[in-house]
Amino acid sequence: IVNIKPEDVCILGATGSIGTNTLDVIRRHPDKYQVFALTAHRNIEQLKLQCVEFKPKYAVLPEAELAQELQSFVEYKELDITVLHGVDSLDFVASHESVDTVMAAIVGAAGLLPTLAAAKAGKKVLLANKEALVMSGAIFMDAVKKHGATLLPIDSEHNAIFQCLPEHFVEKGIEECGIHNIVLTGSGGPFLKKTLAEFPAITPDEACAHPNWDMGRKISVDSATMMNKGLELIEACWLFDVKPEQIEVVLHPQSIIHSMVRYNDGSVLAQMGNPDMRTPIAHAMAFPDRVDAGVAPLDFMEISQLTFDRPSKERYPCLALASEAMKQGGNSPTRLNAANEVAVQAFLDEKLGFTQIAELIQQTLTSTEYAEVSTLESVLAADKEARERAQQLVEEMTA
Ligand code: NAD
Ligand code: MG
Repeated sequence: IVNIKPEDVCILGATGSIGTNTLDVIRRHPDKYQVFALTAHRNIEQLKLQCVEFKPKYAVLPEAELAQELQSFVEYKELDITVLHGVDSLDFVASHESVDTVMAAIVGAAGLLPTLAAAKAGKKVLLANKEALVMSGAIFMDAVKKHGATLLPIDSEHNAIFQCLPEHFVEKGIEECGIHNIVLTGSGGPFLKKTLAEFPAITPDEACAHPNWDMGRKISVDSATMMNKGLELIEACWLFDVKPEQIEVVLHPQSIIHSMVRYNDGSVLAQMGNPDMRTPIAHAMAFPDRVDAGVAPLDFMEISQLTFDRPSKERYPCLALASEAMKQGGNSPTRLNAANEVAVQAFLDEKLGFTQIAELIQQTLTSTEYAEVSTLESVLAADKEARERAQQLVEEMTA
């Protein structure tokens, strides 16, 4: 028996839906994984419990005050944990030489810099934080290549596509592998059947009640508008080096098929499973091996049917906005993502109605400048400008 040291894992966004599912997979395999660092934003009570159970070397919070509270707790419990605060500390733990694997599970643009730091440090990067890739596209992918990082998708659709692609797709490219296109499936969210006339009255809690997945509030709203599928389309273009035209979005309300790859010989490969994020998380953590994820076996008799449909443009305008932004290229996906983050937050704060989310994004895109992006600075500048403009528009719309 060879005694191999467990992999050291850094979890960015440990207290969220992806973070806690990641810790559940780690909990099942203490011989394979150990926690090196945990980071959180506001949910300090959850972080305290995680510190007690997983005993990381580092725990990070953005704000000094919360970090002080955690520090007192760590001393009281006599835990050997270094508590850090500030955004630079996120980069520090994500790129620390002791870390093997970084789970990028912060929501939104706040995750970009630490995720990029992990890529630049050549880590195994498990990417849940799709907004980071949508914002920075080529810059992120270049950093992965240049620094020899391993990028594995956690988003269930991209993880499914990855599983359905041949191993050599990275070297050969999609076309050389005889692939016709990628079929990106989406449930259509909670409002698949609601009449359009009822859309303006949708509340945040209704939008966050997803029929199949239990997720953070931001991605839940994105799923309801299908901006999530739009962001995923952009994410797939970067991850698999394809164009938006090579991706077909199909509604599949049961969320059993997580996405598919269509080959030129008529074969279609699909990855299936119960809708439980521990499957893609365990897949990426153990890749290329497989480990138990704690997910119930798929019971075909219980599912009984799988259905498919076309997404309607009237119901899901955000999907077209995202696809258009990707076709435009340059800073358009960055501006789209920034406007969406502001719009979703305003909707959650009950400042905007549900249908105003798409309107706000569209108006932000038409009233901010298109530009090429070649540096991280230009990405951050486009993000800032679009955020400010979107915030102004929120105020105009609510005035
Ligand atoms: P969540 O809201 O449940 O958790 C977000 C985490 O990020 C929390 O730990 C929070 O503390 C941290 N965080 C939030 N704002 C931060 C900030 N400004 N600075 C530092 N940390 C901050 O979200 P989630 O559902 O776990 O999603 C996380 C990411 O994974 C998102 O990008 C989402 O799109 C993606 N994702 C989630 C799922 C899912 O099933 N939940 C599926 C696919 C992809
Ligand atoms: Mg997804």
